[in-house]
Amino acid sequence: MHKGLVDRFGDISNKIQVACQQAQRSEEEIKLVAVSKLQPVSVIEKAYALGINNFGENYAQELAEKSSACPSDIIWHFIGPIQSNKINLIAKHASWVHSIDREKVAKKLNDALEVEGKKIHALIQVNIDREESKSGVLPEQAIDFASSLIAHYPNLILEGLMFMPKINASKKAKMNTMKKIIDLQKSLLSKIPSCTHLSLGTSNDFEESILKGSTILRIGESLLGKRS
Ligand SMILES: *Cc1c(COP(=O)(O)O)cnc(C)c1O
Repeated sequence: MHKGLVDRFGDISNKIQVACQQAQRSEEEIKLVAVSKLQPVSVIEKAYALGINNFGENYAQELAEKSSACPSDIIWHFIGPIQSNKINLIAKHASWVHSIDREKVAKKLNDALEVEGKKIHALIQVNIDREESKSGVLPEQAIDFASSLIAHYPNLILEGLMFMPKINASKKAKMNTMKKIIDLQKSLLSKIPSCTHLSLGTSNDFEESILKGSTILRIGESLLGKRS
C-alpha cells in the first residue's frame, strides 16, 4: 500500500528528530526543503497545509509559475543549474539559491537583484567528487570564490556551501567525501564566520547528513511522492 503525504512527513520528521538527538543538535538548526520539481501545485498546497514552507525548484520557469500560483509566504529555494538567460526569474521568485557556481552568474544575479530591490540567500555549489556531469566549483576554488562573492556582490547574502555527493559510490568513498566536505566547511567558516549553512542530504542520506552537520536538507520523492 502507498503511504500518503501525512505519513511520509511524519516518518521524515521522526527520523530528523532522532538524528538530531543522536547528533546532540537542536531541530531548529535544520531547515527541511521539500523538493517540488515536477510536482503539481496541488501537492505543494497539501504539503504547505501540513506546515512545510520551504520548497525547492530546479527549473526557473517552473519556479516562476509555481511561486505565482502558491501561497505568498512560501520560501522558494532555487537548487538547479543556473542558466544565465533565466536569472531574472530566479532573482524575482527565489529567496535562496543553492547553486551559485561561477562569477558570471553571480554578477548577473546581483544586477538582477538590484533591479528587484532585494537580496537573496546564497550558497556556493561545490562539485566535491569532481564529476564531469555535475556543476559546481572545484573544492580547492570554493574559498577564494566565496571571498570574491562577498567582496563584489552585496545582493548575495553568502550563507555557506551546497553539495550533491555521488549517491552510488562505495561506502568507503562516501566516507572520504564526507570528510572532505566537513574539512572544507570548517576552513570556510574559519575564514568567513557568517557562512554557517551546509546544504547536504537528500532522500537517501539525510540522517547521516544531520550527523555530519547539515543545516539544510533537500528532500524530494520520499516526502512529496513520485515525480510525474
Ligand atoms: C531533485 C533534487 C533533490 C531531491 O532528490 P530526491 O531524490 O527526490 O529526494 C535534491 N537536491 C537536488 C539538487 C535535486 O535536484
